[in-house]
Amino acid sequence: MFYPPSTYDPACPVGSYWDTTLADLSWRDPPPLQQEVSCEVAILGGGLTGLSAALHLARDHHIQAHVLEAGSLGWGASGRNGGFCGVGASDLSHAQMVKRVGQEETERYYQDQRQAVEGVQALAEAEGFSLDAQGQGCYVVAHRPQAWRELEAEYALYTQVAKYPARLLTAAQLQAEGFNSQENHGALNIGVGFGLNPLKLTQGLAQSALRRGAQLYSHSPVLAWEKVGSWHCWQTPGGRVRARQVIVATNGYTPEALHPAFRGSLLPVLSSILVTRPLTPAEQQAQGWWDPTPVYDTRRLVFYYRLLPDGRLLFGGRGGTQDTPAEREHLRQWMTQRLYGLFPAWQGVEIEYFWNGLACLSRQLHPHIGYFGEDPSLWYGLAYHGSGVATAVWAGQKLAQEIAGIPTQISALFRQPLQPFPWPSLRLHYLRLAYHWAQWTEG
Ligand SMILES: Cc1cc2nc3c(=O)[nH]c(=O)nc-3n(C[C@H](O)[C@H](O)[C@H](O)COP(=O)(O)OP(=O)(O)OC[C@H]3O[C@@H](n4cnc5c(N)ncnc54)[C@H](O)[C@@H]3O)c2cc1C
Repeated sequence: MFYPPSTYDPACPVGSYWDTTLADLSWRDPPPLQQEVSCEVAILGGGLTGLSAALHLARDHHIQAHVLEAGSLGWGASGRNGGFCGVGASDLSHAQMVKRVGQEETERYYQDQRQAVEGVQALAEAEGFSLDAQGQGCYVVAHRPQAWRELEAEYALYTQVAKYPARLLTAAQLQAEGFNSQENHGALNIGVGFGLNPLKLTQGLAQSALRRGAQLYSHSPVLAWEKVGSWHCWQTPGGRVRARQVIVATNGYTPEALHPAFRGSLLPVLSSILVTRPLTPAEQQAQGWWDPTPVYDTRRLVFYYRLLPDGRLLFGGRGGTQDTPAEREHLRQWMTQRLYGLFPAWQGVEIEYFWNGLACLSRQLHPHIGYFGEDPSLWYGLAYHGSGVATAVWAGQKLAQEIAGIPTQISALFRQPLQPFPWPSLRLHYLRLAYHWAQWTEG
């Protein structure tokens, strides 16, 4: 475990604002597994990846998967993220991607990312659930004048190679569109993306999966895993699952000790979120910030922010490397000061919610979707690099298709096998070094 036990304990309250936006949360707690079941597919983790896989397996391929979730459905990052549904699930630069998988597969990666974002909206429409979608694309704001050059390069990349709709905006244009802050040095609007309520997305996937015949179990942590013949056998406190094929959909909460396939390969990272009280239209006008389109900045350790449907500001950023109560409190205060510095007209506005959660990096700096080389019945969708809302849902769909025996055409980038970090026990130290470096060079 990287962080204290409380980080992984589903009994510890999250304190997320999203929990207050749904009148009924009972769907999150279907009964735990209390028996022995045998099935074709079992899924570890009831977040966006696992629920999407279960929904698509049942709906499109008539395979009724069993999903085991340690806490309530969506207890991991899926029910508590910032709700930015956008592209960018790889931390590799374009040049690095081309070097690794070639031009054609890199272009396919961009198209996959677009398909993932558009697929979330299409799925919600097809299944009839609400997302509280907001905004037109996503803005990347230059946090200092030198960053404008990077945005120009990204603009060329997105329009010419990725073929995304995109616009470059000067500081004055950005301000006129309703995004006035103290760090406005121009922006890039990537026209693929929008903001959503992540808990409503999780609810929509869970209820659709159930309706289509998937079996969902909450409060059913898998404690032991053994392979008996061709069966994967999982033990929970109240039951046992035997499955021909399994999907590991645990991302930043992956219990590495359960199976050797994941040992040393993942780096869970904390992200933190503040939510203010609702800001009145007059307060929004006073700051010159009224558009709800999601925004993040050009820092390596990004700040991300968006106005929510009830006028609150959601403000997110990195979340430390210890997750102790003292570090959480320090981060809450530090992020509050950053928020006030960015939006002076909102100085002193009440912060009503603060929480954090785990996203996930891999050594290769991109998501991994596929099966474990030594066991083709062990599938996974992992490591979305803090940008998994769209990609996790898409990964679930692609995994379902592959398990049903229908080959997918996803970019070779996603198919690269997981590799352990060098000296895995030093992973948190690598992270600390990277944070110090970013802080020192970018402020
Ligand atoms: C604070 C925060 C903000 C973020 N903001 C954004 C954003 O705005 N946009 C974006 O695209 N991405 C964002 N992300 C990332 C995104 O939320 C994740 O990439 C995505 O939700 C991953 O979904 P998942 O289903 O793969 O994993 P998770 O949602 O993390 O689910 C994994 C589940 O596995 C369960 N589990 C673990 N071990 C076991 C076990 N032994 N038995 C049973 N169950 C187990 C856990 O309880 C957990 O619920 C954010 C992440 C965080 C933490």
